[in-house]
Amino acid sequence: LTQLFRPLDLLGMVYRTVRQGLIDMAEMFALVDTPVEVSDPPGAPALIMRQPTVRFDNVRFGYEPDREILKSLSFRVEAGERVAIVGPSGAGKSTIARLLFRFYDPTSGRILVSGKDLTSVTQESLRSQIGVVPQDSVLFNDTIGYNIAYGREGATRSEIEAAARGAAIADFIERLPDGYETEVGERGLKLSGGEKQRVAIARTLLKNPPIILFDEATSALDTRTEQEIMQTIRAVARDRTTLTIAHRLSTVVDADRILVLDEGRLVESGSHGELLAHAGLYAEMWQRQAADTANEPEPV
Ligand code: ATP
Repeated sequence: LTQLFRPLDLLGMVYRTVRQGLIDMAEMFALVDTPVEVSDPPGAPALIMRQPTVRFDNVRFGYEPDREILKSLSFRVEAGERVAIVGPSGAGKSTIARLLFRFYDPTSGRILVSGKDLTSVTQESLRSQIGVVPQDSVLFNDTIGYNIAYGREGATRSEIEAAARGAAIADFIERLPDGYETEVGERGLKLSGGEKQRVAIARTLLKNPPIILFDEATSALDTRTEQEIMQTIRAVARDRTTLTIAHRLSTVVDADRILVLDEGRLVESGSHGELLAHAGLYAEMWQRQAADTANEPEPV
């Protein structure tokens, strides 16, 4: 009888692997428009994360040969640091995230994680140690528990609940009539943008990566939800290295360091206070945003 079941086990495993691959692809699309094949060098070792640091070293990159997007970009993110990347639309913020995930390789220069050049280690090992909370998370038509558990194959119920607590969505789930068994997605309960992002945070917590990349939602969340999510992210970021691609300045004020990108160049770097005192591009963006917020109509 066990002989009979083995192929089924295998099928189950293949199915789960393919399914996991599909959602990875889907999440990837939030970061990448056209994924380009990069390959592992033969016999490449897995990345061993000794220190969760990130370093861009004179990185040049363009999607097309005649249009350079990142122009000799250099910066470091130290272990445990919370760094935000800001800059005008099209400056290259998401491109940095795509390169860090090695969806593309730089034209020249190097990207190092834990001191290792990304082109010298396997992509799988790299991606398993960097968690992404994308702008728009993909949910399966399955239970909310399953959707969190997807963060790590074989997670136990108590681990799933701990991740949900960490992402501040446990109370919400426990109030649902079917709790963690509640079906979500197309045919089930529709989750709001904020709730979906919390599921993504819970998934990432379960995966427990030493480096987390937050791609902040551009517009989906109202101010209060955004503040609550930011609070959750701050708690999650404790003891981890985090890189936040920020589309609104209100969310970066307490980052350890803010990198200001303009047309693919790092033009300023410092804390919120330092950058305001510097009276450069960041200060200008901050004033403009404050003026825009003041002019916004009051919610009715
Ligand atoms: P935003 O704040 O608007 O999201 P961003 O700073 O994240 O902007 P990127 O998405 O990194 O900007 O894009 C930088 C530039 O690269 C843009 O000019 C964009 O048109 C270009 N670009 C992005 N993806 C591709 C692609 N797949 N192929 C060609 N060009 C691309």
